[in-house]
Amino acid sequence: MTKTIKSKNSSVSEFEAVIGLEVHAELETKSKMFCACPVVDHNLVEPNTAVCPVCSGMPGVLPVVNQRAVEYALRVALALECEIAPVSIFARKNYFYPDLPKGYQISQYEQPLAVNGRLTILTSQGERHIPVRRVHLEEDTGKLTHVEGDEERYSLIDLNRAGIPLLEIVSEPELHSAEEVRAFAVALRSLLLYLGVNTGDMQKGVLRIEPNVSVRPAGSSEFGTRTEIKNLNSFRALEKSVGYEIQRQIKLNRQGKQVVQETMGWDEAVEETIPQRSKEEAHDYRYFPEPDLPPLVIEKGWIERVQSSLPELPLVKLRRFQEQYGLSAGDAGMLTANPAVADYFEGTANAATGLTAKSAANWITVEIFAFMNQAGVGIEDIEVEPQQLAALIKMVNNGEINQNTAKTVLVEMLQTGETAESIVEKRSLRQISDSGYIAELVKRVLEENPEQVATYLKGKQGLSGWFFGQVMRAAKGKADPQIVKQELERQLGEMDQ
Ligand code: ADP
Ligand code: MG
Ligand code: ZN
Repeated sequence: MTKTIKSKNSSVSEFEAVIGLEVHAELETKSKMFCACPVVDHNLVEPNTAVCPVCSGMPGVLPVVNQRAVEYALRVALALECEIAPVSIFARKNYFYPDLPKGYQISQYEQPLAVNGRLTILTSQGERHIPVRRVHLEEDTGKLTHVEGDEERYSLIDLNRAGIPLLEIVSEPELHSAEEVRAFAVALRSLLLYLGVNTGDMQKGVLRIEPNVSVRPAGSSEFGTRTEIKNLNSFRALEKSVGYEIQRQIKLNRQGKQVVQETMGWDEAVEETIPQRSKEEAHDYRYFPEPDLPPLVIEKGWIERVQSSLPELPLVKLRRFQEQYGLSAGDAGMLTANPAVADYFEGTANAATGLTAKSAANWITVEIFAFMNQAGVGIEDIEVEPQQLAALIKMVNNGEINQNTAKTVLVEMLQTGETAESIVEKRSLRQISDSGYIAELVKRVLEENPEQVATYLKGKQGLSGWFFGQVMRAAKGKADPQIVKQELERQLGEMDQ
């Protein structure tokens, strides 16, 4: 055991991992990047129903830049504290693949929209600013589905996705662990949600994060050969695959072998990275300025307007929640990752006087989150308004119902949308705080269980929990647990005289 820990530690000090991220985020504008086709959920809508001559690559058509897409890109670039280029250039990235009907993708290359930004990440090691190299605009490709039947193999193309505005965000290679990579992804996803430009759904592929991973001897400033991991559709896959890839490369280094520069996939089932294609087959994209589009000119006034319209950003909100509501960093982090959850929390905490923020935070991060996970829904989809959750918590604080009853009531509220008050009334769940009545119940339980009482009195203190359970059962779970405990202690104590 000691031995494995030792070898693990030595690997940490001997080598340093170096990771940079390339992120693609679809922009949730109404129409596509260069045509008037609607941006649709390409996982839900019939294939090839949101397509026109422009996005299907017909000859003789002209692209027109979507102004809203540029504005969304500016929001992200400014939130990442980038320098905005007053003039940027669209470029053709040429390659031949069936998901690209024009034979080239309109992107930005030498003069991107924005450069030199940074994103603050939070890990167990504290806070770090990770430099962001560039943010540029491009268009998404179509989507291929490869069908492999017994008799035949073919591919289906859906061009609904072709031409959806796509933002590429590239970090400098300054992340050094799988944990930091995850923290970067989490922080960036939050930012996109706050800015209202992307739903952050990695499963659906609207947010795609590709890590470039290399390792080098600790203390070295040269870069090792990198691999790139593609098709990761969750934070978990991202973190696991980076962790695996780091260890794989360290092992190769130890054995004196070379890391091959290649693109890897991630096999979810065996949790291993698998080679997909090597860089030797990499394309020469023959970039050149897009002749059909003028340079993209961003006026200063526009930048100022977008800057001043930015909402309170995740990290600022997190700090404010800690200060204003006295929350722990952990709670504040969970409650601010998604702006809708943050609003829900504030709605609850401020709904009723005398409600503590801490209890609101607990009910949301434990019970509400559990329900959301189980039902697979977001907080905007649940039936319980913040005011209703606050009313439930108040009933607990006032001693009208106990904690356990409240949990059952909340589940029913979430399922039916009924108020706490009406569920408690209907099921007569109001807590029994009548100490005379509780004393009677305790007395009866003790009388009915003389053997257990004798054992208890001989010193088996552990039985007090069992007595408590019996009394609560007799009270159908509705007795005030505090009073039950006191009364049990009192009566058993008297018998011990
Ligand atoms: P390309 O355009 O060929 O993919 P870039 O140089 O633009 O390459 O880098 C893409 C990403 O890879 C960036 O996030 C960058 O930080 C990262 N990167 C570049 N070199 C390395 C390296 N040696 N190790 C890890 N990441 C790297
Ligand atoms: Mg790349
Ligand atoms: Zn179109």
